Amino acid sequence: MKLKNVKISIIGAGFVGATTTYALMLGGLCEELVIVDINKDKAIGEAMDISHGAAFVKPVKVISGTYEDTKDSDIVIITAGAAQKPGESRLDLVNKNISIFKSLIPEIVKYSPDSILLVVSNPVDILSYVTYKLSGFPRERVIGSGTVLDTSRFRTLLAEYLDVDARSIHGYIIGEHGDSEIAAWSLTNIAGVNLEEYVRITEQGKGDLSFMEYIPMSVKNAAYEMINTKGYTNYAIALAVRRICEAITGDEKAILTVSSLMDGEYGLNGLYIGIPSVVGKEGIRKVIEVPLTDKEREDFISSAKKMKEIIDDSAL
Ligand code: NAD
Repeated sequence: MKLKNVKISIIGAGFVGATTTYALMLGGLCEELVIVDINKDKAIGEAMDISHGAAFVKPVKVISGTYEDTKDSDIVIITAGAAQKPGESRLDLVNKNISIFKSLIPEIVKYSPDSILLVVSNPVDILSYVTYKLSGFPRERVIGSGTVLDTSRFRTLLAEYLDVDARSIHGYIIGEHGDSEIAAWSLTNIAGVNLEEYVRITEQGKGDLSFMEYIPMSVKNAAYEMINTKGYTNYAIALAVRRICEAITGDEKAILTVSSLMDGEYGLNGLYIGIPSVVGKEGIRKVIEVPLTDKEREDFISSAKKMKEIIDDSAL
């Protein structure tokens, strides 16, 4: 993709879509932002509100519009979709969102055939695969937000507990963005030191390792907790999406746990799942086959198989 005069479109002007647009505007990483929603008034209002901050940020045009207005976008972010209702199964939600994606992906592809598609709607790993199939785009140009957000939550909670900057913690949540995700402890380190060793050296928490149990649980339950309190999540996911866009527009070759197509990696095929991948201007440049412990690998494969089963049972 081009690295100048970048245009990003956001499909869905709900909590996530609107906050993502705002985060992108603050980030100053593009010249044009277009918001599309089936609820036109919502898109109009959000674009108007965000655009009125133009005097405080780098020049950027923020508009609402139709798919035609998204023409020649460099990145299209998909946040549209139905949310899970009480009594509705995950598969019901999958099929509902597949039907929404069947209507919007052809429109996106028609106007931006060279774009990178960034899927955020849930279940994100399933809908990333659906987008890959429906768009006909090469694998590198269809990216899911994967466990980028979960990884940030993980590093944030570890940072609070260990009293170091979250940016100095190297560690990943891998697998499904959801209940079967895995904290890859064997890859997690501070200053190149694994966490058991770090706690021993620094005497942080008097050597108590129970955080290795409850922090991954807190990460897994974070979305449920926010949905039970504020009703939705929007800020951290918007920053996670901005981080992915930044890696693309800056051709950073950054390592992010985006949801990537498995094409033989880890012995897996035909599904998307969160795993450290190199992200740059082409999208996903490379999926990294990180060395995992036997247990981590087993859990990762089992998480991936769950994704495959849902895809196979879906109405795709
Ligand atoms: P929301 O209900 O506030 O917004 C969804 C928007 O999509 C609505 O404005 C709706 O009008 C629009 N929409 C529905 N059908 C459409 C269509 N056919 N075309 C265009 N627009 C359409 O929901 P939200 O809180 O913004 O969440 C959006 C999605 O993001 C959900 O699927 C949510 O689960 C997901 N999410 C993902 C992550 C992640 O880490 N991947 C984090 C948070 C939320």
